[in-house]
Amino acid sequence: MAVAPLEPSMPLVFQCRSCNTIVGDSLSIESTNERLGALTLSRVSSLQRSDDITTSTAPADRGSTYQALQCVHCTARRPRPKTCFAAKFRRRRPPRAQARVGRVYVTTVPDLDELRGRYTLDTEAICSYELGGGGGDAALPPRVPGDVEADLRAELAKMQGVILSIHERLAAVEARPL
Ligand SMILES: [Zn+2]
Repeated sequence: MAVAPLEPSMPLVFQCRSCNTIVGDSLSIESTNERLGALTLSRVSSLQRSDDITTSTAPADRGSTYQALQCVHCTARRPRPKTCFAAKFRRRRPPRAQARVGRVYVTTVPDLDELRGRYTLDTEAICSYELGGGGGDAALPPRVPGDVEADLRAELAKMQGVILSIHERLAAVEARPL
C-alpha cells in the first residue's frame, strides 16, 4: 500500500547513486512505498525507459509488468559487451556502475494501481541531497538564547512553505481527471 510521503523541511534532490546525476526532486513525489523500497515521482530527468517489458517475480509486486528505468549517463558509460574469444580468459573486472534505478509500471497488481505510468525509483539506487542542508559554516558565531524567536520565525516560514506545497499538490490531484 502506497502512503503519502513525509514532507522534508526543504526540497530534496534525488541523484543516481552511481554517477550523481540529478534524476528528480521531492517536489514531484507522488508516494513512497516501504514494501517496494521505492518512491514514485511524477517527473524525472536523465532517465530512459527500456524497450522491453519485464514481469516481476518479486514478492512485493509479483505479476506486475514494467519497463526498467535506466540512468542515461551510466548507460552511456557502459562498454560494449566483449564477444571475442580471448575476453573469456581476461581477469574479471569489478562490477560496472548499475544503470538501472527504477521502473515504470505498465500493468500492476490492484494495490499498486496508482504507480502505473509513473516513475518508481528504487531507494537503494538513488541518493538524496536536501537543499539548504549544508553542514554549516564554522565561521558563523554560535547561536545565543535570544535567537529563539528568530528560530521560531524561521521554522514557521518553513512550515508555511511545506503547507503551501501540500496545498498545491492536493489541488493538482483534485484537478486530475478520474
Ligand atoms: Zn548514473
